[in-house]
Amino acid sequence: SLTGTGLHLAFGSNKVLRGVDVHVDAGKTVTVIGPSGSGKSTLLRVLNRLHEPDAGDILLDGRSVLADNPDRLRQRIGMVFQHFNLFPHRTVADNIALGPRKLKKLSKEAARRLALEQLELVGLAHKADSRPGNLSGGQQQRVAIARALAMQPQVMFFDEATSALDPELVKGVLALMADLSTTGMTMVVVTHEMGFARSVSDSVLFMDRGVVVESGAPEQMFDNPETPRLQTFLSEVL
Ligand code: ATP
Ligand code: MG
Repeated sequence: SLTGTGLHLAFGSNKVLRGVDVHVDAGKTVTVIGPSGSGKSTLLRVLNRLHEPDAGDILLDGRSVLADNPDRLRQRIGMVFQHFNLFPHRTVADNIALGPRKLKKLSKEAARRLALEQLELVGLAHKADSRPGNLSGGQQQRVAIARALAMQPQVMFFDEATSALDPELVKGVLALMADLSTTGMTMVVVTHEMGFARSVSDSVLFMDRGVVVESGAPEQMFDNPETPRLQTFLSEVL
């Protein structure tokens, strides 16, 4: 499980997180929704310690990680962003093999085998020796997911993973994310895809201006939002 408690973060006088609690049990998927600027991406970056919180704690399986080397936590959390940042001059398989070779000290052969296995899982084994630029955006995003999975993370973070994709490519990436969720990956997903939030997540957090305004099971959040702010948000995005 991954837990953040009482997380605060300010950039100068801009208080971006103002006491956020978040918890995802092993094997579950939590979706974070909310308006632009509400602090969703910042929350993910604090949870993997790309930013150190001003206050609060982060626990992995119930144990605080704040005293550890941040790299240890980052190696356990796979990150998938809007922009996939694949290396353009390396093959798809090499893009995936790089992390395991460097950080897990796998041999070239073992890393290649692992890369091919991960590509198989995302349906792109036949693209192993292509360059990223020769793949569609949706395929590149599936490679980015395979790259994160190759590190065998305990938790996967997704930050607007489909926002930069052409509409016809969104479905395939969401389907892959839904598969991962069903097969027991622990996930925190920031998304504007309300259909995904509703059908895939075990619980939903609604953030506004740095606080979790409302959270709960997806049916409750979407069918019976309690707070006026969530009601307004949903009426604008649905
Ligand atoms: P969006 O839906 O548009 O992605 P978000 O909910 O992810 O929005 P954040 O990116 O977390 O929002 O930003 C929250 C606030 O923090 C914004 O006011 C933003 O300007 C500020 N912010 C984010 N990152 C930084 C940074 N590195 N330095 C200074 N301010 C930042
Ligand atoms: Mg964001």
